[in-house]
Amino acid sequence: MITADIIIIGGGIAGMSAAYFLAKKGKKVIVLEREDQPGYHSTGRSAALYSETYGPKIIRKMSTASKAFFLSPPDGFTSHPILTPRGVIVTAMPGEEAKFDELLTEGRANGANVIALSPEQIAELVPIVKPELLIGGALETDAMDIDVHALHWGFIAQFKKMGGTIVTRADVTGIEKTGVEWQVTIGNGDVFKGTVVVNAAGAWADEIAKQAQIKPLGLTPKRRTAVMIDLPAGMNADHWHMVSSIDEGLYFKPDAGRLLVSPADATPTIPQDAQPEELDIAITIDRLVTATTLTVNRPGESWAGLRSFFADGDPVSGFDPDHGGFYWLAGQGGYGIQTAPAMGEYAACMICGEDVPAAMQKLGVTQAALSPTRLSLS
Ligand SMILES: Cc1cc2nc3c(=O)[nH]c(=O)nc-3n(C[C@H](O)[C@H](O)[C@H](O)COP(=O)(O)OP(=O)(O)OC[C@H]3O[C@@H](n4cnc5c(N)ncnc54)[C@H](O)[C@@H]3O)c2cc1C
Repeated sequence: MITADIIIIGGGIAGMSAAYFLAKKGKKVIVLEREDQPGYHSTGRSAALYSETYGPKIIRKMSTASKAFFLSPPDGFTSHPILTPRGVIVTAMPGEEAKFDELLTEGRANGANVIALSPEQIAELVPIVKPELLIGGALETDAMDIDVHALHWGFIAQFKKMGGTIVTRADVTGIEKTGVEWQVTIGNGDVFKGTVVVNAAGAWADEIAKQAQIKPLGLTPKRRTAVMIDLPAGMNADHWHMVSSIDEGLYFKPDAGRLLVSPADATPTIPQDAQPEELDIAITIDRLVTATTLTVNRPGESWAGLRSFFADGDPVSGFDPDHGGFYWLAGQGGYGIQTAPAMGEYAACMICGEDVPAAMQKLGVTQAALSPTRLSLS
């Protein structure tokens, strides 16, 4: 029997950011991760973008609240910047004028630096775009690339340095409460004991709740595909912005001399080790060659990952209303990396019985917006 204050299930970005902030508060924390490596699932499969205008309201607040950590992480957290400038251009086609106006107005109202571009200006910045298909685009200049590995492993390294424990190949198979203590059993029979269990199991969060005899909150994992595409010899895309269509049918961004391309699919599925489907790869290429001047003879490697959502699209961070000591940290959808510092700090504060951090309060973050109660009542 191994005892800790807090047992976190899941070593992805959600579990590790919470573990880091809890350890900073002096808590004894054990993270249980089923795979050989933390980050094998969604965390290791993202498009690595930081955008303050992307996602629902609470996500935008948590992304903004994360910015200070990204820009100046604690000493020794990482040896190079976590964010690097990228910029994202959201393009609109004829018939999408109203949506485009709304995007510009909303982005600016949120304080983002958003510039309206003509189709020709877009083609100057990203020369493969076909300007004749577009009515214009909105450039969010402050969108950034995230070094996901540096962020995730920064949390892991600092957590371990503070005495935290990560157990890999630890498939949680049983969770039960005796008195005020939770007992978590893993596949090899080892048992871990703590007064708080944090459910940061990504797409499996509802499955973890069921193991603990707790009502699931209705999480839907959605598969998203990404394909790497070679560029013609001599074409250097390093300085291009990311391009995303306003209808969310296609996005692409430079990635180490090639393009990372996604059809932005969101196919509901079961929690699993998601794999790309041939049809989705074909759709990706078709949309890319339609929107750009590129020809694709042979796609590079492809992968798929799960973005998991609750019914209202917002994440959950809070204690289960009916089961004391069971903390939900799930439903980060397509924004779990760019919100991780704020979500981790918020979770640590809630678990330690503290208030919402002042900087988040200033942005309008409330417990009600993140509490699982909103879902368990519906
Ligand atoms: C294609 C794609 C593009 C994306 N692009 C972006 C982006 O640009 N920006 C952004 O911010 N976000 C993006 N996301 C979303 C982001 O990747 C997720 O929101 C985030 O990784 C979720 O982190 P997590 O820790 O909750 O989940 P995960 O990383 O999946 O971690 C959950 C962990 O729990 C473990 N686990 C599950 N069950 C058990 C068990 N029984 N016992 C022990 N361990 C268990 C799993 O093994 C897993 O490691 C993207 C996602 C995809 C798929």
